[in-house]
Amino acid sequence: MDFGMEEVNCPICEKSRGDPFHLEGSFQMVRCSSCQFIFLNPRPTLESLHDFYQQYLPEEEASIESWEKMMKPVFHRAADLLKQYRRNGRLLDVGAGFGFFLAEMKNRGWEAVGVEISQKALDYARNVLGLTVHPGPLEKVDFPDNHFDAVTGFYVIEHLSHPMAFLRECQRILKPGGLLLLRYPHTTPIKNLLDSFGIKNRLYDLPAHLSDFSPKMIQQCLEGMGFEKCQHLIGGYTLPCDLKKRTASILFGSLSETLFRLSGKKFLFPGVSKTVLAFRGNIS
Ligand SMILES: [Zn+2]
Repeated sequence: MDFGMEEVNCPICEKSRGDPFHLEGSFQMVRCSSCQFIFLNPRPTLESLHDFYQQYLPEEEASIESWEKMMKPVFHRAADLLKQYRRNGRLLDVGAGFGFFLAEMKNRGWEAVGVEISQKALDYARNVLGLTVHPGPLEKVDFPDNHFDAVTGFYVIEHLSHPMAFLRECQRILKPGGLLLLRYPHTTPIKNLLDSFGIKNRLYDLPAHLSDFSPKMIQQCLEGMGFEKCQHLIGGYTLPCDLKKRTASILFGSLSETLFRLSGKKFLFPGVSKTVLAFRGNIS
């Protein structure tokens, strides 16, 4: 696919265009010289990303099933985590995909709605699973203020051109004290490790991923936006269909879970996907 590309300033601090950091084919990750954020620059325009996401998720029934199996352990862990704070309420899943997390939460007694940019995934969630899903992006839906008890986003924030605007919107539509749960990849440490052995890699999944958040950066953004009581977790691991990927996911996932537990929930294994939970504060 041909992408219309644009050069941008750092999506977090807007202070620099970034210094070259990593190349994958013709795509370049850069590092902001001011806040150190890692982002794709130049990056596809919003219009070409919208077209790209119409083809991003699989379409055949078998692939959708594999997708569900892959994500299930992470969805279960997230649902159990939310249960520690709220038994039910109104939940929004942003980037709901086929709707499997929404279905899980609906089964658990939540009033669950989604937002999804891919028309095919949205059709599946609506027509096959009978869920309420709005066409994305989130900012266009215009939910009321103080509306949701929980907002979730699984592997969404790294795809967004304006992650800060997204967090601001989550803050606005959450009730005070409402929960935000985000799941995101954290690729840079593994990439650096492979680089140090001279191993070429395409771990960033470019140009789908527009940035790579670290737990520190995500906490900084959340707190800057008025979220409180940030908690970081490993939050389980996916089970991809591909045997090699599955083995790596189980190996690193269980190792990082074990180390997290043994460290009294302090050590976050670098390079594996992570979950962050935060609460909307009373300030707006
Ligand atoms: Zn920056």
